[in-house]
Amino acid sequence: GGSQNYILETRGMCKSFGGFQAVEGVNLHVAQGTIHAMVGPNGAGKTTCFNLITRFLDVSKGQIIFDGKDVTKRGASHVAKDGLVRSFQISAIFPDMTLIENVRFALQQRRMPAMNFWGSAARLSVLEDEAMQLIEHVGLGAYANQRAATLPYGRKRALEIATTLAMEPKVMLLDEPTAGMGHEDIERITEVIRKAAVGRSVLMVEHNLRVVSELSDRVTVLARGQVLTEGSYAEVADDPRVKEAYLGT
Ligand code: ADP
Repeated sequence: GGSQNYILETRGMCKSFGGFQAVEGVNLHVAQGTIHAMVGPNGAGKTTCFNLITRFLDVSKGQIIFDGKDVTKRGASHVAKDGLVRSFQISAIFPDMTLIENVRFALQQRRMPAMNFWGSAARLSVLEDEAMQLIEHVGLGAYANQRAATLPYGRKRALEIATTLAMEPKVMLLDEPTAGMGHEDIERITEVIRKAAVGRSVLMVEHNLRVVSELSDRVTVLARGQVLTEGSYAEVADDPRVKEAYLGT
């Protein structure tokens, strides 16, 4: 089929570090409006793919097509502005600002980067209303006026998603959204991601296969820098080569 069905595509994407091929000819197809997961054993090349796609690393060979445009050579902030947005890391959250202020600041960066932090009262109150909606959307309404530093870890990761949504992503890239979480937080963030994905596309690297099975429309399995297989979760989970790849580590 034509690439117009895909919001994000990589064609023969390669990355070598010195003489070592970390990513070798990866073709990835993220269909519009879907949640797509990248899985695979440690060292498979997931993080490298992620960094290539978000332009944090330069590709050695191949192409990255986003929203119909070749973005292979574009800068990270440029593709982010165009809507290929990597989840903000907790380190990008301002701990001494409230949740509202954090999300408002992200909205401000997006809409009116020239305005200084304090801006005009009228504009700020509009942004504050929007920030509050995003905070409620990720289930953090009760914490809106607390300092971000006071949030427990799992809730901070939900705040990351609210901040990322403020950047109006067409494709939201999530790097291990459940890493380090307990069962309850995992259930909660799974719902947050499901809601956040409505009306956009998501590409995530995720180790927790239960989360992958619950969320993903499509799964790409990487092993040794290459695509081993791609399909629905049920299809790839059933593939003996996938089991073998996981056991091999
Ligand atoms: P994954 O995220 O699937 O665990 P990575 O993308 O982190 O895999 O790593 C893939 C391979 O590339 C690994 O063998 C890793 O050691 C290697 N690698 C990753 N980054 C670098 C780097 N900056 N320099 C050298 N080798 C790297």
